[in-house]
Amino acid sequence: MKLPMTGGCLCGAVRYEISAEPVAGANCHCRTCQKTLGGAYFPALFVHASALAVTGHYKEFPTLAASGNTMYRAFCPECGTSLFGRNSAFSKIRPVSAATLDDPGVFKPQKDIWVVDAQPWDFMDPDLPKCNGNLWP
Ligand SMILES: [Zn+2]
Ligand SMILES: [Zn+2]
Repeated sequence: MKLPMTGGCLCGAVRYEISAEPVAGANCHCRTCQKTLGGAYFPALFVHASALAVTGHYKEFPTLAASGNTMYRAFCPECGTSLFGRNSAFSKIRPVSAATLDDPGVFKPQKDIWVVDAQPWDFMDPDLPKCNGNLWP
């Protein structure tokens, strides 16, 4: 992937830059991701926390993840776009919503996670490995 990768929210108040190659990509189908994003799954690009630089004011909402960890979900208080997360158990890695990238087409998910929570109308790539837990158990 071409670096840095850039992205931001719908209104442009929050912008971010990813300066290092992401460590993984996965689609999370858990219920909290569905609610937060208002969609079937969270297309999560996992990046090193030190490689994610954010400008602009955002808010974090703590949610209890399916794993039992706390996931702080960051969103723009102006337009409501869900941008990235911060997991209490994996503080060095941050999931970023691939849909908020300026060039979302570069995202390559490697796995479907928390598929047990997926909705019947959620279509998944049959070629991707599936699991009922976190990317890193
Ligand atoms: Zn915004
Ligand atoms: Zn999830």
